[in-house]
Parts: sequence; C-alpha cells; structure tokens
Amino acid sequence: MGAGIIEIVEVGPRDGLQNEDMLVATDQKVELIGRLVASGLTRIEAVSFVHPRLVPQMADAEAVMAALPDADGVSYIGLALNERGVQRALDAGVDEVNFVVVATDTFSMRNQGCTTAESMEVWERLTFRGYGEGARFTVTVGAAFGCPFEGEVPVDRVVEIATRVAAAGAAEITLADTIGVASPGDVTRRFGAVRDAVGPTPLRCHFHNTRNTGLANAYAATMAGVRSFDASIGGLGGCPFAPDATGNIPTEDLAYMLQRMGRAAELSLAALIRTAQWLETSIGKRLPGMLMRAGPFPAVAERA
Ligand code: ZN
Repeated sequence: MGAGIIEIVEVGPRDGLQNEDMLVATDQKVELIGRLVASGLTRIEAVSFVHPRLVPQMADAEAVMAALPDADGVSYIGLALNERGVQRALDAGVDEVNFVVVATDTFSMRNQGCTTAESMEVWERLTFRGYGEGARFTVTVGAAFGCPFEGEVPVDRVVEIATRVAAAGAAEITLADTIGVASPGDVTRRFGAVRDAVGPTPLRCHFHNTRNTGLANAYAATMAGVRSFDASIGGLGGCPFAPDATGNIPTEDLAYMLQRMGRAAELSLAALIRTAQWLETSIGKRLPGMLMRAGPFPAVAERA
C-alpha cells in the first residue's frame, strides 16, 4: 500500500452474517467471499470460531474456510474469543487470527464468559509462548466507544487495554464501536490516545452505522492516521443491542468516499455494487448501502 492509501477489511461474511437472523448456506458464503475477492478486497474476515450454540450463523466456519479459493495476496481472517477458538482458527488454516478483548467486564462476561483482565491473560499466554507461529495475531478491542451495559467507557481504560495487548505482540489493534455510539470527536480522542500509547503498532477501526455516524467516524479516523478500516458489503448486518439497526458501514459507500479523497486502494466500485446487489437478491433483504442505489460518480469512470 502506498503512503496515505487506506485499506478496507471486509467483515460482511463474519460480522454482517453473524448479526442477521437468517442462516446463509455454506456455498452461498463461499460465493460471497469469492465475489468480494474478485472486487479487489484483500483482507476478509471470513468466519468466527465461537460456540455454535451461541452463534449458529457461524457453525460452519471450518467448512467455509476449507472451501475458500487460495487467492494470491488475499488474507482470510478468523475471529476468536478464547483459546479454543484460536486453536480452531489455526487448525482451519486462517491467515490471521483476530482475538477479541471487550473493554468492559459486564459485556466481556456476557460475550465470552470472562472478565476483560482474564481475556487479556489468555492473549498474553498465547502470544508469549509463540503460539500459532505463521499466522498473524491481531486484537480487536470491543465496546471501545461505549458499552450497552456500563455506558461510557473511559479513554484510559481503552488505552490500558491497547497498551497491554500491544506489549504482548498484537500485530494490529482495532478499536471497535460494537454498538454504534461513537461520534467523530470520540474517534479523534481515542485513536490519538491509543496512538500515543502503542507507538508503531498499526491501528484499525470498526464502526457500526447504528446511529448514522459511521462515515463521519470513518472520516475522523482517516484524519487521525488510521490506515485500515472494517466495513461490510451493502452495510450487511445489524447490532445485537439495537434490534432494528443497520450493520457496519457499507464497504462500497466507504470505498466511494475514499476514492473521491484519493485515498482508496485498488477496488472496483462497479464490482462492489454488483456484489451488494447480488447479496441483496440472494438473501432476499434490502441492504442499507446507498451507493448501490445511486451509482458511482462520475458514472462513466466505472462502466466496466
Ligand atoms: Zn462489529
């Protein structure tokens, strides 16, 4: 990636589908991921390795991984909440393990059955003993902008977690607005404070558009120097704590904004739009993305 170019990490197959009610067939997931790769996306969070009773949408994680095309320069990410999930991810051959540490104890207990500190201890145990060499190990700090149970999350708390997971070898740290409450000011403040604390560790952002602040937050993150952005195709997904809310920021809407800023990686907006439209038809549900309705501008540039 060139200087100033921003990478989009596609999380629709994982975060998007995980927060949709319907169960999508394995071959449909594999087709979706293939289409995303064909659109130029090079990092894809494909699955999560969580207990199938808790997240039935991800029960076929191993089967999805086994069926994915080996694409040059494409990195498949598996999400894990605990040691067992990490082992499953490695066994399934992921390129990256994205380990989740939730910023508040109440949410952490509900999400992964342990406190924030216990979760960080698992992370340290795994990384300090050189576990899973060959795969890239990253950390997502969940509820980094607000918690559905505890409310406001102090910036110091997020900094403390980021500092500790960075010291234990996180290759990248994502601050996730899991419930979609962030505003641009929070983004500037939190990423600034974490950047000061973790030095050269790459940072990534994860915004849900639950309250329609997603793209504004993304813009603030570009100004804060973040170079990796999570997004989901068509804005697929939802928020478990706001039943009627939309999902992550839409990949193609974000790609459009970044292209117009001269900051996007090589992506075909036309292909992303086609993929979003295909997905809408195949799951039989209207998706919230807007570029897929309005089309790119100037239109002629993307007629391929
Ligand atoms: Zn999310």
